[in-house]
Amino acid sequence: MTAPALPEESPIARDVRGSSSRSIWADVPDELWNDWRWQQRNRLRTAEDLERVVTLSEGERRAIAETAGAFRMALTPYYAALMAREDPACGIRAQAIPRVDELTPNPTDLDDPLGEERFMPVPGITHRYPDRVLFYVTHNCPVYCRHCTRKRKVSDPTSAAGHDQLGAGLDYIRAHPEVRDVLVSGGDPMTLSDERLDQLLGALRQIPHVEVIRLCTRNPVTLPQRFSAATVEMLARHHPLFLHTHFNHPRECTPEAARTLRALADRGINCANQMVLLAGVNDDARIIREVNVWLLRQRCRPYYLFQADLAQGISHFRVPVARGLEIMRALRGPVSGMAVPTYVIDAPGGGGKIPMVPAYVESIDDESVTFRNWQGLPYTYPSR
Ligand code: SF4
Repeated sequence: MTAPALPEESPIARDVRGSSSRSIWADVPDELWNDWRWQQRNRLRTAEDLERVVTLSEGERRAIAETAGAFRMALTPYYAALMAREDPACGIRAQAIPRVDELTPNPTDLDDPLGEERFMPVPGITHRYPDRVLFYVTHNCPVYCRHCTRKRKVSDPTSAAGHDQLGAGLDYIRAHPEVRDVLVSGGDPMTLSDERLDQLLGALRQIPHVEVIRLCTRNPVTLPQRFSAATVEMLARHHPLFLHTHFNHPRECTPEAARTLRALADRGINCANQMVLLAGVNDDARIIREVNVWLLRQRCRPYYLFQADLAQGISHFRVPVARGLEIMRALRGPVSGMAVPTYVIDAPGGGGKIPMVPAYVESIDDESVTFRNWQGLPYTYPSR
């Protein structure tokens, strides 16, 4: 007996489909629309491009002009088509179109919020924890997220990782037998060609002490077409390979994204989601729950919910930590714990990820611990 098919879209994605902007590409045949190279070539990069898709506010037009020198703007047609034409509060629009708030520095902003440069023994490698490194392999992304924590480098051509830098990074990993886990990051490593990725992953796989490779990519969200059957096969040759991605909003939970995540899972590539808590995008337990139950249906694990970093020009996205804790409290209980990520603050300056957990414990002594459950009901348990 065949099991009934599970829905590929989240309810919000389905409800808003009619208000999205795909119709302006109605004359583009599906064959081209589903070709990631066409999507890359036809990215929206100017205010004029965007005006075809959404009605820009005066502030957005000014922000596009004034942020151009600091951080590129680019949207794939696929991602742009998820935006609501007239709704300036649209969660996709907030992530992809500059706002004037980006131009206002906040006294708490830091140049290098996570101390990635401080822990950089050779260009392109951050070695902060004993057994794992971050390996930056490109500065390019299909869509430049306005909340990007690496704005200082991503999209900057002068920070591009050349052949020599990649070679030096591989040499560093070879020379450090304590490194058993490599996070291949950027920018977005899926902007490399299949051939280059295959070579790079193959070189890592040749290092005996590298046990796990993690590919950090937002392509399942912004350009799911990138994962052709051949690409997925190529990736699966480098197991154990994990993929970390970054869904933030139910509008991103589309049939295209679902098919990509399922294809990766079918080839044993475990996917995990690293959501960022963003004001005006997903600072609502209902929104996060909807994304996370959709992710589970596609066999992608909700892994982290990040408090936004103290990067320059993103302070308008920051949600008060107390609000983040309220959201976490509201998540636990109504849905399975599998849909509840770990809420973390990546400590400024390179202190690492610190879990933020709502206070369930009310008192603890030698006799007993008193706590409340997800419904707020009090319980007691012996201390030992
Ligand atoms: S895909 Fe990742 S690296 Fe690229 S702009 Fe978005 S958050 Fe930054």
